Amino acid sequence: MDFLTLTEIFEDMHKTNSRLVLIDHLVTLFKRTPVNTIKKIIYLLQGKLSPAYEGDELGLGEKLTIKAIAESSGISVKEVEEKYGRVGDLGDTAKEIAKNKYQQTLVSEKITIERIYSTFEKIAKSTGSQSQIIKLRLVSSLLNDATPLESKYIIKFLLGTLRLGIAEYSIIDALAIAFTGNRNNRKKIEETYNVYTDLGTIAEILSKKDLEGLNELQITPLKPIRPMLAERIMDPIEGLKKGNGMIAFEYKLDGERVQIHKDGLKVQLFSRSLEKITNHYPDIVDTIKKFSIDNCILEAEIVPFHLETKRIQPFQELMHRKRKYNINDVILKYPIKVFLFDILYLEGNNLTQYEYTKRRTILESIVKENKNHTIELVKQIVSSNLNQIERFFRKAKDDGCEGLMLKQLNSKYRAGAREFLWMKLKKEYDNTLGDSFDLTVIGALLGKGKRTGYYGALLLAAYDKNSDNFQSICKVGTGFSDRDLELIYNELKNYVIETKPYNVNSNLKMDIWYTPKLVLEVIASEITLSPSHTAAYGLIQKNFGVALRFPKYSGRIRFDKKPEDSTNTSELIQLFNRQVKRNKL
Ligand code: AMP
Repeated sequence: MDFLTLTEIFEDMHKTNSRLVLIDHLVTLFKRTPVNTIKKIIYLLQGKLSPAYEGDELGLGEKLTIKAIAESSGISVKEVEEKYGRVGDLGDTAKEIAKNKYQQTLVSEKITIERIYSTFEKIAKSTGSQSQIIKLRLVSSLLNDATPLESKYIIKFLLGTLRLGIAEYSIIDALAIAFTGNRNNRKKIEETYNVYTDLGTIAEILSKKDLEGLNELQITPLKPIRPMLAERIMDPIEGLKKGNGMIAFEYKLDGERVQIHKDGLKVQLFSRSLEKITNHYPDIVDTIKKFSIDNCILEAEIVPFHLETKRIQPFQELMHRKRKYNINDVILKYPIKVFLFDILYLEGNNLTQYEYTKRRTILESIVKENKNHTIELVKQIVSSNLNQIERFFRKAKDDGCEGLMLKQLNSKYRAGAREFLWMKLKKEYDNTLGDSFDLTVIGALLGKGKRTGYYGALLLAAYDKNSDNFQSICKVGTGFSDRDLELIYNELKNYVIETKPYNVNSNLKMDIWYTPKLVLEVIASEITLSPSHTAAYGLIQKNFGVALRFPKYSGRIRFDKKPEDSTNTSELIQLFNRQVKRNKL
């Protein structure tokens, strides 16, 4: 397949705001793609060169890209910059310039997907003192042979601004239709994806074999699996009922969730959204390497920790660990503690099918055998006694926890699932809503007065899995410090999109629309019915959605959450119903 065909399909995708049409485009694309190219196509669609967890970065800056455009078109850097200033997007600038190329190469080679991919790979791999020159040469040579449309997408890809906004769910739907002829088979594909998060390999197997071929993709150390999630509950009694009167209560620590993978001497750490975070925590890597186990997958919460007071510190301190340089100084200055709460794999055996109690016993023995001051077991009690539970809850709060996690004793580890097998009880449970909301930014109104240049209010959305849509739930304009405003503004700049994206459902008029990407934590006093917001529209009452009353930004950007992990429609309905029940009491 050639790259031009792919870019034409990208253009069609950009034009639609219907999810079904988008899936149709994907199906057509997958059907036309040869078996040996499908993997690459999947990664390119996601703006990557490999599964996201590999963390491969192209790392091309604007400056170098502008130079490459100038070099391949024979005009000066200044002229490219001027044009860029007018057009506003470097991909579109490259397209415009390519249209009136000064220097035409005499023989131009057709660009294949293989060539695009291998050049991108070379760019990603080139390091060292000569790397800038090598990258410049590689990009220029691609642009020399590219049509205007191809130039646009080459640049967008290299800068990381491709943003086709295709959710994994849509790719999975399209794979089911293209390769099995039945959308219902998405379930099996999703189940595989939950434990083997490499969509490229999944697509390749589907195109070579059949649905059963996916059985060969099993949970494997060094490949992250999708984390099991918790439903929220309002009080411990509700949790006890779900567990037939007996539940495991664990401290709910407020830090960063980590999946720790060990395979021989190799150790990798993955975040909740399956990004590689190994480099942020060399201290954890060193400790795990010394474990007397050959291979395992563990789950834990990392928290900042004060070595003298022995107290958990606010989660914000973990931000220092995200620095690329001088990490060894940071380790000393910002110590951490790792609280293990699960084990999913041990010495070649998949433990996800074991019950919680058995996994916990195994975990306890591992911690005992590998004593170390940075690693501990998360505190836990198994109880049915409300007084004991209340005391444990108070102690958790005193120790700096967010609340408690409740886990059903016979529950298996269900990768990627949010069910009542795990429940979260936050410390605000005596408030009306019991929790904060994680919502995705989808739009903004421009600011006035003091906020000129920034936004005045952000439009936030909940996620609806059934329709794969982000549905508006509130506008939020309070709770932002000046620093927050600047940080969020700079972050959002990357996601501006010309028109409302296909997967955003809102009837409101906004000054700016964003590709759903950034998740913010918000607190609110109540959930109300709303004729203008689209969250859970028609599901509680005809012609009404739900909205948050008095929403306020909590001060926390949830970089660890994907937009699809935002508070979802069924959670909102549950919360609304609980609120109605309480108000009646
Ligand atoms: P939330 O982010 O509010 O949906 O709460 C779930 C998160 O709590 C998990 O993703 C973990 O990062 C965190 N957490 C803290 N302590 C535990 C624990 N004992 N078991 C499971 N998750 C925990």
